[in-house]
Amino acid sequence: MKINGKTKITGIFGYPIEHTLSPAMHNAAFQVLGLDYCYVPFLVHPDFLGQAVQSVRALNLAGVNVTVPHKEKIIPLLDHMNEEALFIGAVNTVVNNEGRLTGYNTDGRGFMESLAEKGISSEGKDILIIGAGGSARAVGYYLCQKANSLFIQGRTREKAKRFVQDLCRIKNNSYHIEDLSDLGRFQIIINATPLGLREEDPLPINTGALREGQIVYDLSYKETMLQKEASKLQCIVLNGLGMLLWQGALAFELWTGRKPDREIMRRALNEALSEPQGIFT
Ligand code: NDP
Repeated sequence: MKINGKTKITGIFGYPIEHTLSPAMHNAAFQVLGLDYCYVPFLVHPDFLGQAVQSVRALNLAGVNVTVPHKEKIIPLLDHMNEEALFIGAVNTVVNNEGRLTGYNTDGRGFMESLAEKGISSEGKDILIIGAGGSARAVGYYLCQKANSLFIQGRTREKAKRFVQDLCRIKNNSYHIEDLSDLGRFQIIINATPLGLREEDPLPINTGALREGQIVYDLSYKETMLQKEASKLQCIVLNGLGMLLWQGALAFELWTGRKPDREIMRRALNEALSEPQGIFT
């Protein structure tokens, strides 16, 4: 990669950031299209988020991705939010248009694209989302539009109920659920909690209640116990790698106006993952 005076800079704000896989996939995609862009990781301590956002303007960065723990806190620091990011209440992509910063969230569309590439449609399905945080809201925003029903189970009752109320403003087919014993009625089950990232984590559901052929989508792209158990039960298991790829591809398009070569991005992601420390966005 050649950096010169015209190179446009993109990157990712997070804390921690050293495990990020995103530079590998974006830089590979810039190179293959011959775009004079580069993507760098920025370790942004929460105390310095304000200055970091100001630096996007000051240093004329083309845009940045945003990851944990800044996805929500960045919102009041931006000039404009797109509709989807507003609903979700979290931003994963910022675009700098001559100093005016717009917040987007490409996670939900990325999730839907990753389903579509596996030939899976949400249309007419009964779907369960476990979790009521940023990623749950991102996928729920799209899923409720075509699903037959969408059930939300969340650790914090009030948060899950608020999520359902917000979904019902899009389409009146979403419900709050606490009892997870009847998992068999869902065609798609999504784990949108971080449960499974640590070895000592409990399973988010009783996997004994799963049945063959159910789709279990775990947003974590590290292999989890849920993924292993669901595979043993002949469920169709998806991990978060597809969503990671697609949310990145959509951010790439927002910054460059070009569609990236997704196979190049996928290969770069897999290579980065095979390195010892790659487990986060
Ligand atoms: P958030 O912190 O916004 O939300 C997490 C949700 O999980 C909240 O509803 C929270 O509960 C719940 N939760 C957290 N810990 C527990 C626990 N111990 N038991 C039960 N519920 C729990 O996180 P995100 O939505 O951003 O991320 C969730 C997962 O999705 C992570 O694993 C993340 O890596 C993954 N992800 C993957 C992406 C991809 O591209 N593949 C993109 C974004 C996220 P409460 O409601 O009480 O706060």
